[in-house]
Amino acid sequence: MTLRWLGNNSWEITGGGTVILIDPWLTRFHTGTYTPEGAPPDVRIVSDPARIDPYISTAKHILVTHGHYDHLPDVPHIARRTGATVMGSETHLNLLRALGAPGDQMSLVRGGEYFQFDGYTIQVFRSTHSTQGGKLVFPGTRPASVPKKPRVIADLVEGDTLAYLITIGDVKIMNFGSSNFISREIEGLRPDVLLVQPGGGSTHDYVPRMFAALGEPRYVIPTHWDDFDEPLTAPAVDWGGLETLRASVAKASPRSSFVVVDHLERFTPR
Ligand SMILES: [Zn+2]
Repeated sequence: MTLRWLGNNSWEITGGGTVILIDPWLTRFHTGTYTPEGAPPDVRIVSDPARIDPYISTAKHILVTHGHYDHLPDVPHIARRTGATVMGSETHLNLLRALGAPGDQMSLVRGGEYFQFDGYTIQVFRSTHSTQGGKLVFPGTRPASVPKKPRVIADLVEGDTLAYLITIGDVKIMNFGSSNFISREIEGLRPDVLLVQPGGGSTHDYVPRMFAALGEPRYVIPTHWDDFDEPLTAPAVDWGGLETLRASVAKASPRSSFVVVDHLERFTPR
């Protein structure tokens, strides 16, 4: 079983006869996210197959953690190209349909699902998004019907946040697409590989509470730590959260190996 980091919270997990993608977003159009002002809401959404196709050709599942612009925009193209089933909330799937994703590949989940496939399982958990000083950026839901086509990043609302646990053989991999979580939903899961995002400054006791709920994973791999206005084809540029996360993990979970995987690199848990 191998994980490959495709930048931001994009992961390709290969093994057990399957390929699973989490939040695949490779176009990385310029957003201004990591400037003091943050991303302007009127930045146009772009999805460019020329930046996606060299890296992604097959997948059985695409797991969406939330609806934001650095997670969702490339999913319609990748779903069409691979034929993968897309798991997400009602809002995520409605936004994806509005962006042209094939409706018959959409798989509505809400947290609590435990899917058995041939050789692996996928569990879905209710989660929650980080905030900036207690306020969610680009909040909202798009229930019931397909909205008009999203054009700018503010059109891609969060639409609930999900966490995923993938089990291939005897290896459990957990992913959070944002620096927040719901303790009671994940209590006792004991993943072997934890993909965790830095930040969480507005989340009470972020890292200690997470490890209190999850135990001490063998491997902790940072995700979503690169400035995605920088290219995927160069080494990742830390937006400033990596060393704080490393220190917090060392304190909360001293027996875990903190493994930094760079852009496009692979990691195989032993
Ligand atoms: Zn987000």
